Amino acid sequence: MKSSSVGTESVAGAAERPTLEWVDDATLPNTLRLPARAGRLLVLNDVAEATMAMPEVAGWLADPDTRVAGGGSNVVFATPRISKAAIIKASGWSAVHRDTGVIELSVEAGMGLDALVRATAGRGWFGLEALAEIPGTVGAAPMQNVGAYGTEIADRTRWVEVWDRRGRRIERFARDACDFSYRSSRFKREPGRWLILRVGLRLSATPPADWPPVTYPGLGEAVGEWSERTGRAPSAMSPAEYAEVITTVRLAKLPDWRGGWPGSAGSFFHNPVVAPEVATRLSRRWPDMPHFDVPGGVKVPAGWLIETAGLKGRREGAVAVSSRHALVLEHHGGASGAEFLRFAELVSDRVEDETGVRLVVEPECVNE
Ligand SMILES: Cc1cc2nc3c(=O)[nH]c(=O)nc-3n(C[C@H](O)[C@H](O)[C@H](O)COP(=O)(O)OP(=O)(O)OC[C@H]3O[C@@H](n4cnc5c(N)ncnc54)[C@H](O)[C@@H]3O)c2cc1C
Repeated sequence: MKSSSVGTESVAGAAERPTLEWVDDATLPNTLRLPARAGRLLVLNDVAEATMAMPEVAGWLADPDTRVAGGGSNVVFATPRISKAAIIKASGWSAVHRDTGVIELSVEAGMGLDALVRATAGRGWFGLEALAEIPGTVGAAPMQNVGAYGTEIADRTRWVEVWDRRGRRIERFARDACDFSYRSSRFKREPGRWLILRVGLRLSATPPADWPPVTYPGLGEAVGEWSERTGRAPSAMSPAEYAEVITTVRLAKLPDWRGGWPGSAGSFFHNPVVAPEVATRLSRRWPDMPHFDVPGGVKVPAGWLIETAGLKGRREGAVAVSSRHALVLEHHGGASGAEFLRFAELVSDRVEDETGVRLVVEPECVNE
């Protein structure tokens, strides 16, 4: 069936957009709030124009030593200073509303993911609401295929536009070519190759059949409370109301990434997928161990493993395992990146000693 557009909307990012700006000795934002600076930072609004007009910009971006920075919510700065960085500031977006109820978005990489969730859910568009309160930029979201409460950015992605740092040209990958998987994508698997410029997403003006999704522990309860408080059926929830419920659930267990202490990078370890015989061995010792069959083995929650190793709430100096959510490591101020990582190593070692399972760190460690 052919569809036609019944409306378009464009929301510009910053009012004034110089194509680029160079900043010396720049602070690099990071939600762990570890010391982090770049000797020189290239702030970009228009990569196409900047790379065409100025060969030194293309050279800067093509240099493997230049680090692409986003919001800093999935990185650990192991060293306090790196020499070269680039960041995309452009944060405009546009939407085409089709007569079929489909909304096609094109979003610049510098927009905050949470800001996009609020803007689209606030317009009554369904699709991104489960990703409310995830920090970071739209440009970084396809990197690790961000996801929460059963939705991944891959589920809504139509295309990803990139600047190829090796080929020095703009390319657009259709969703299938992005090779998305759990917390990964082709962009993550080829580190340093792609600068994500823009993401195309598809949302809907009508709710999905299972609306509202409540399959995650704690979420059904929170939706039930919302329904009781408002006197409305859960099925009548707007996407913005659902995003608010998600926000409440998340804030009850995660540090606030917008500011203050402690700093965190969200979930610090991947949930390990172990061989069935390992899961059987663990279940024999801990019959209540939560576990989920997944392709390739059995997924065991890393938070449960950390709690089982007796580390929930454990603090050493300025670094701690959260007492609310064992998968979150907290920085309470004053630690160096190296100290933080030493503590993470200690947690992994203890978990391995106790359970035989080695945890893998989720955020990228920045070393120079
Ligand atoms: C409190 C908290 C809760 C979180 N909850 C979740 C969650 O529920 N689900 C989830 O999936 N994640 C979660 N995260 C992790 C994090 O929010 C995501 O990984 C997010 O996508 C990182 O975005 P960022 O802009 O901060 O990227 P950064 O941390 O700055 O960078 C991450 C990686 O992406 C690269 N990158 C950044 N921008 C670009 C670009 N434009 N082009 C190419 N590469 C780029 C960087 O070089 C780096 O390799 C959470 C983090 C915190 C602190």
